[in-house]
Amino acid sequence: MGAPVIAAAALNSRTGRKILAGAVLIIVLVIAVLISPLIAIPFAVAGGAVGTIPTEGNAAPAASGEWGYPLSGGYSKGRGFGYNPVIGCSYCSTNHQGYDMAQGCGATIYAAGPGQVITAGSWQGYGNAVRINHGDELVTLYGHMQWGSLQVSVGEQVAAGTPLGAEGNTGKSFGCHLHFEVQKSGTPVDPESFMAGVGLQLK
Ligand SMILES: [Zn+2]
Repeated sequence: MGAPVIAAAALNSRTGRKILAGAVLIIVLVIAVLISPLIAIPFAVAGGAVGTIPTEGNAAPAASGEWGYPLSGGYSKGRGFGYNPVIGCSYCSTNHQGYDMAQGCGATIYAAGPGQVITAGSWQGYGNAVRINHGDELVTLYGHMQWGSLQVSVGEQVAAGTPLGAEGNTGKSFGCHLHFEVQKSGTPVDPESFMAGVGLQLK
């Protein structure tokens, strides 16, 4: 007895039906308000992540043969190889051993060529870095990536275009950028010359 009887009685009068419809509307609104945070949170998280990564960083980078660019799409050039002091940065190296390129904090960094990951984590002044051994004493290094962004681990085999991590500002860095270094027999060589040699022009 009780509620069903009152509801049945309410349905028998016009005013009763209006009251019942109002009550149902209030209940629906209360439920909507209660569950809305549960719906909104996943979108907010996804939106935040997408917001920090440029869309051009999500497509596979241009490749030539077995090699590809470490960033996908357009980028701005930072310091080139050789004597290049950073104005306003006393801890930055003056004799630059790599090639700096920037797309924006959080942009995906890709392996430039096939090989085995020999470093994945904190590495000297390079911050969060990945080093790949390509054989023939050839090693590429990707420096200053965001902490916690690495997508590969030591011992893993990668190909050109394998995502490594996200562009960051870790280690001896002065703003988000990728420090791309190429070493031959343990000695850094000019990445521009090396990449040109495999058919990929750095700007
Ligand atoms: Zn650099």
